[in-house]
Amino acid sequence: MVEYIGIEDMQRIVGRVGPAAFMKGLAAEIEADYRRWSEFDKSARHAIHSPGGVIELMPTSDGRMYSFKYVNGHPGNTARGLLTVTAFGVLADVETGYPLLLSELTVTTALRTAAMSALAAKWLARPDSRVMALIGNGAQSEFQAIAFHHMLGIRRFRLHDVDRQATDKLMRNLQALGLPGLQLTACSSAAEAVHGADIVTTLTADKRNAVVLTPSMIAPGMHINAVGGDSPGKTELHADILRRSDVRVVVEYEPQSRVEGEIQQMPASFAVTEFAEVLTDAAPGRTSPAEVTIFDSVGFALEDYSALRYLRKLQLDNAQSRRQIDLIPQLDNPKNLFALLTGAQTGPVRQNDCMPAPPETVPG
Ligand code: NAD
Repeated sequence: MVEYIGIEDMQRIVGRVGPAAFMKGLAAEIEADYRRWSEFDKSARHAIHSPGGVIELMPTSDGRMYSFKYVNGHPGNTARGLLTVTAFGVLADVETGYPLLLSELTVTTALRTAAMSALAAKWLARPDSRVMALIGNGAQSEFQAIAFHHMLGIRRFRLHDVDRQATDKLMRNLQALGLPGLQLTACSSAAEAVHGADIVTTLTADKRNAVVLTPSMIAPGMHINAVGGDSPGKTELHADILRRSDVRVVVEYEPQSRVEGEIQQMPASFAVTEFAEVLTDAAPGRTSPAEVTIFDSVGFALEDYSALRYLRKLQLDNAQSRRQIDLIPQLDNPKNLFALLTGAQTGPVRQNDCMPAPPETVPG
């Protein structure tokens, strides 16, 4: 049997722990896994593009466990009443190849992306950061606000979305949580939202080279958490922001980010730092209070591996509500897979079941 985490299980797990504590716990798992970066088998994700979006497969392994995520990104979906991003994934045992867990990853992706954003900001943003602009107030946005509130002590959020109803929804959802000290300001443009912000998170969905942030909006010392630009031809930052001499760009896995991140707009010689290098002191994070840091987030398979392992731990800790599914056959005789279809029992072979063939009669 394979452990199963569906949407109801996810509601129960996060309900028990609380979303803020869940994301903090997950960020610790992600950080621990990034610290052993060299142990992971890494590859850029496999993407199939269509006019409306992209479907991606994201595998990785540390030699003991293997994971993959199926994820899509279809910015036009919300107009049809569907999510822009959905996902599910598997955690498997490398020794036997057997899947251990099949899990929903739509909610989990929002939690892990926000956990990763806050983790990166912990290392890159100015420690005295107090105000965050959140541009793009769709499905991912509450998760980002909660993670930055809980993990970085951000209290003031300046919100903007081209769809005012999305901002209203975000404000309602956050206000209902009663987070201490929370101050929310709805802004009528991205420029207004960014004004006075220490951290700017861009979370928009648009399958084009959008220009959500322009160079004139960027102030010295800002940290930009660029999340929505995550596939070829889908970016959020004006390329001149990347060209600034005071900018340091940090990515997850460089070969993937070169194709999918904001840096797809830059030549191959453009210098970037991988997040694992910052964590292990192989490269500096922020080098001065005035530096502009950019976390060019596209989402990497390791973060989903961490999330699946974290979920499995939480699931196993709570034995009563565990669910399993019969995804893989359980057999008395693993060579008798066919018996699953016929219901035939394994047992001794009857002698007349294997009589030698009669000798051929040779015509006289
Ligand atoms: P969503 O469709 O629910 O929300 C996107 C919001 O952006 C919408 O409310 C839309 O009105 C708004 N928007 C679009 N263009 C805008 C603009 N120019 N200015 C302001 N607002 C604008 O999508 P979501 O699930 O919240 O995902 C947001 C983005 O994050 C997507 O592009 C998705 O692919 C990306 N994403 C990245 C990661 C990662 O790891 N980097 C993970 C998950 C999602």
